[in-house]
Amino acid sequence: MHAQYKDHMGDDLRVVDAARVSFANESWYINEEYVPDKNSKHFEAWLRYALVNVRHDRPTLSVGDFGLIQFLAEHGHWTPFAHPQISLRMKAPVPIRTQCFKHKQGFVENEESRRYISSRPELFMPEEFRSKAANAKQGSSGTHSRSTPWKAFYKDICEEAIDGYVAMVEDGIAPEQARFILPQGVQVQWIWTGSLAAFARFVRQRTDSHAQGEIQELASDVNDILQPFYPISWEALTR
Ligand SMILES: Cc1cc2nc3c(=O)[nH]c(=O)nc-3n(C[C@H](O)[C@H](O)[C@H](O)COP(=O)(O)OP(=O)(O)OC[C@H]3O[C@@H](n4cnc5c(N)ncnc54)[C@H](O)[C@@H]3O)c2cc1C
Repeated sequence: MHAQYKDHMGDDLRVVDAARVSFANESWYINEEYVPDKNSKHFEAWLRYALVNVRHDRPTLSVGDFGLIQFLAEHGHWTPFAHPQISLRMKAPVPIRTQCFKHKQGFVENEESRRYISSRPELFMPEEFRSKAANAKQGSSGTHSRSTPWKAFYKDICEEAIDGYVAMVEDGIAPEQARFILPQGVQVQWIWTGSLAAFARFVRQRTDSHAQGEIQELASDVNDILQPFYPISWEALTR
């Protein structure tokens, strides 16, 4: 299970420009002649951001543009955050793929099709089996006391089903039907393209402690990939 970077478009400045075009204005990263507005309520936060950027030789937004991004995020003005787009290559077991696909607005996905491929599917192995949570309708608690034998059981049963799938395909059964025998633990891959706004919503919801552990891990990977490309917008949208 993983999220891998493919490519991305835009940056924090794109968000600012999308907002400022309302007034036919445009912004630039600051240069050495720039004098920040020390009276801005965002000055101290901006200074921390600017100092880190200088150290890493990265382009820096003005304090006004930094503050604008905070304002847009705080007031739910999401369209400027829909201009930057990111493509990822994802791999996850079927139920986690299904959870990802519940996020519809601002995303497109194309996934591998077991109508057209008949290679042996890869099984997702959980690191451990967790116990059912005692007082919750959903979720889980710590490691189950018999996690290790259940992992061996899971692997045996699933690999047997996958062997059955391979045998059916080798005997000429259509892959689009043979796939019905596959367990939920097989991994599927998809290309996932979405806006900065959409991925931030996904990460916000799926890093929450109520989300399933596996999708929390995946959302955390997505977080780590996207944060460096849009540091100000990402922080404002996901905090
Ligand atoms: C912990 C957890 C448990 C969950 N359990 C279940 C479950 O048991 N069963 C299940 O089916 N799903 C479940 N979900 C999925 C959940 O119901 C959402 O479908 C999913 O989280 C996507 O969120 P979203 O609707 O905000 O995203 P999107 O579909 O991307 O929508 C983004 C936003 O656009 C707006 N929007 C979208 N569609 C419309 C519309 N038709 N009309 C008006 N506004 C719209 C809403 O403001 C929405 O928040 C669960 C999610 C979580 C995080």
